[in-house]
Amino acid sequence: MNARLCFTFVATFVAASGLAQETPQQVAEAELPSLLAIYKQCHTHPELSTQEKETSALVAKELQAAGCEVTDHVGKYDKPGEQGYGVVGVMKNGDGPVVLVRTDMDALPVQEETGLPYASTVVTKNESGDEVHVMHACGHDVHIASFIGVARALAKLKNEWHGTIIFVGQPAEELGTGERALLKDGLYTRWPKPNYALGFHDNAQMPINTIGVTEGYTYANVDSVDVTVHGVGGHGAYPHKTKDPIVLSAEIINMWQTIASRENDPLDPIVVTVGSIHGGTKHNIIPDEVKMQLTVRTYKSDVREHVLAAIERIAKGCAQAAGLPQDKMPEVHVLQDEFTPATYNNPELTKRLVGVWKKTLGDKNVEMVEPTMGGEDFSEYSLPDHSIPAVDFHVGAVAPEKIAESKKTGQPLPSLHSSKFAPVPEPTIRTAVVAMTSAVLDLMSK
Ligand SMILES: [Zn+2]
Ligand SMILES: [Zn+2]
Repeated sequence: MNARLCFTFVATFVAASGLAQETPQQVAEAELPSLLAIYKQCHTHPELSTQEKETSALVAKELQAAGCEVTDHVGKYDKPGEQGYGVVGVMKNGDGPVVLVRTDMDALPVQEETGLPYASTVVTKNESGDEVHVMHACGHDVHIASFIGVARALAKLKNEWHGTIIFVGQPAEELGTGERALLKDGLYTRWPKPNYALGFHDNAQMPINTIGVTEGYTYANVDSVDVTVHGVGGHGAYPHKTKDPIVLSAEIINMWQTIASRENDPLDPIVVTVGSIHGGTKHNIIPDEVKMQLTVRTYKSDVREHVLAAIERIAKGCAQAAGLPQDKMPEVHVLQDEFTPATYNNPELTKRLVGVWKKTLGDKNVEMVEPTMGGEDFSEYSLPDHSIPAVDFHVGAVAPEKIAESKKTGQPLPSLHSSKFAPVPEPTIRTAVVAMTSAVLDLMSK
C-alpha cells in the first residue's frame, strides 16, 4: 500500500468515525451540482476578451465566498481604453509556500452550434464595433467552474496545507495580452510572487477522467508579423515597365518555407504561416504593394530570433534580386505587443506532479502528451527566464464513445474554438478539481 492509498484509507476511516478530513475527490463530488450550475451560467453568458465584466464579477463573488481576500478590476493593457477585468483572490493559511492557480475567463467570437439546451445565443460588439456572436468555444467556462471548485476544496482542506494561495481569474487569454496586463498592474509586486504557478486547459481530443501533461516546452512562442512588399505598379500588359510586387511576394513566401527546411535543425520545429495576403484591385493592373500577415511559431528564444531575422533578410534579399531600389525594400514589422512566449513546464515540477496525479487519478489516467505549436499566455506566469516553476496540464473533456466513433468514421472531433465543441461538464470539472487540488496540497503539505 503506498502512502496516498494509506492516507485515503485512514481519511475514509476517520470520516466514517465522524472526525472527517475529506479527500479532494469527496469535496469535488459534493460541490459538483453547484459547480455545474456555475458552468452553465458562464456557458450561456460568454463575454469576449477584455469585456469579461459579469464573468469576473462572478469569479470575484465566488472566491470571496470561498474565503479569499479579493481584488477585482486588475490589469493594465497597453491599448488605451481597455478595461482590466482580472481577479486576484488570496487564501492565507499561515507561513509556507506561495502557489498561484490560474483560470482564464474569456470567450470567442463564434456562433454556437452545439445544440445544447444551455447554448449561448449572445450577440455583442467586438472592439471594431461589429456585431458578433459569442461562445465559450475554448472551454474557459469549464475552467472557471473547476477553479472555483479548487478554491472551495482548498478552503475545506485547510488542515492539510499551509502558506498562501493566489487564485487568478485572468482576462483576455485569447488575445495573449491578459496575463501581461496583470503583471503590468503589479501581480508579482502587489501580491506575493509565487514559488509555483499552476494552470490547466480542457482538451478536445482526450477522454474524460484523464489528464495529460508535457515535460518542458508544451506550447510555442507566437509572433505576429506584418509585411508590406513594395513594387512599382503599372499596366498588366506591360510588366517590363513595372516591378511586380505580386510575383515578388510569391517568391518571398516560398523562400520563407526554406527557413524551416534549410536553415534550422529539423528536430527543432518552426512554423511560418502566411495567413493573409492582399494586393491589387483588378485583373489588368500591377499594384504598388502587397500586404501580408504571418504567424510564426517556435520554441526556443534563439530559434525565434533567427526566424524573425530570416523573414526580413529573405524578403529584402528577394526584393534586391528583383531590382527594387533601396527605398522600396519590404517593410517587416514584428508586433511586439502581440508576442506570446512559449509555455515551459518545469521538468522537475512536472515529474513531481505526475507522481501525485498517478496516485490520485490512477496510473492509466495520466498521460504524457506531445507538445503543440499552439500558443497560451500561461507562459507569462513563469517569467521570461522560467524562474518560477510552472505547469499547465490538459484535462480530457470528450466522451470515450465520441472518440471511438471518430476513429471508426474518420470524422475528426470538433477542436477547441469549433462552434460544435463543448466539454462533457461533470467529469471534466471533477477531474480538474481533483487534479489541481491534489497538486496544490502536495506543494503546500504540512
Ligand atoms: Zn482558445
Ligand atoms: Zn483556451
